[in-house]
Amino acid sequence: MLARIKEFLGMESKPKEVASEQEVEKVAEEKPKPRIGYIHLSGCTGDGMSLTENYDILAPLLTEMIDIVYGQTLVDLWEMPEMDIALVEGSVCLQDEHSMHELMEVREKAGLVVAFGSCAATGCFTRYSRGGQQAQPSHESFVPIADIVKVDLAIPGCPPSPEIIAKTVVAAINGDMDYLQPMMDLAGYTEACGCDLQYKVVNQALCIGCGTCAMACQTRALTMTNGRPELNSARCIKCGICYVQCPRSWWPADRINKDLGL
Ligand code: SF4
Ligand code: SF4
Repeated sequence: MLARIKEFLGMESKPKEVASEQEVEKVAEEKPKPRIGYIHLSGCTGDGMSLTENYDILAPLLTEMIDIVYGQTLVDLWEMPEMDIALVEGSVCLQDEHSMHELMEVREKAGLVVAFGSCAATGCFTRYSRGGQQAQPSHESFVPIADIVKVDLAIPGCPPSPEIIAKTVVAAINGDMDYLQPMMDLAGYTEACGCDLQYKVVNQALCIGCGTCAMACQTRALTMTNGRPELNSARCIKCGICYVQCPRSWWPADRINKDLGL
């Protein structure tokens, strides 16, 4: 199945140029529409809401480029069909048999499994779950979905922006591997923390004091002190977005040059 999807998406061969909007539309017209599913595990539906906030392109995306074939809040269907791309929102509870089965069924039925949002990608604030609450006091262990199944792409964010969701879907349709590469790399970034900035950036003498991390943090867990990020760990929800947004965690120079025509 994965081989078929990769062929369908042109993933075996790198496109020479970044496709123009017209070329993307042409590719979408010529190819069958990808079947996309939205799977809701232990999430808040915020990632799904962010998807629907693509006001500019949502209508053409839904009517011309993709088919949403599954999703408890979007499609009236109980049986999970085969899908090309599955957007999985939420972490998975190890004590919830239904969620575990659903996740494994997604892996069997989807060509590409996407950890959609930080709960699915890194666990996010469900990392703090420890059970003991009614009506399911035994539900205590929540993990990113990559701890259970192979994940192909991760889009961290709490929630991810509407733009990055739309661009990722279009890049997948177009086989734009340059755009997808960071998301493939992030599929292994499951133990996120604001402290990553200290260990992986400041300690490595990579920080340039730009403040992007502090701006990206939605809980204001980071402040800039003497030009370097300082973490208030009590506010950190482990979404990972500060490290993902930091320009010294990865810097796609080739892609930027290509987009700017340099
Ligand atoms: S985003 Fe990265 S480089 Fe910029 S201040 Fe934060 S840690 Fe330093
Ligand atoms: S410091 Fe902020 S952005 Fe970074 S992981 Fe914690 S909550 Fe997320």
